[in-house]
Amino acid sequence: MSNRKPFNDRAGYVASKINARTGVHNVIYAAAEAGIDADARYATVCEAHGCMVSSTTLPKARMDMKDATRWCSSCKPATTPV
Ligand SMILES: [Zn+2]
Repeated sequence: MSNRKPFNDRAGYVASKINARTGVHNVIYAAAEAGIDADARYATVCEAHGCMVSSTTLPKARMDMKDATRWCSSCKPATTPV
């Protein structure tokens, strides 16, 4: 019960991982099944900020899921270290 992931009963759910920056999951959805208007097969969502990125393949979506700083404007560090 307690280890149930909070988003896995949603339509189109594929996978999720805690976003260390927000403490909330990043979730991969199959866009069509989730009713997400994405331009690729998979959509990865930063649930903390409501930002989304689309990916053509699941391996790409999993990379997006692991690092929201590359695509979520709110997860991006304020300053980029050199
Ligand atoms: Zn975010």
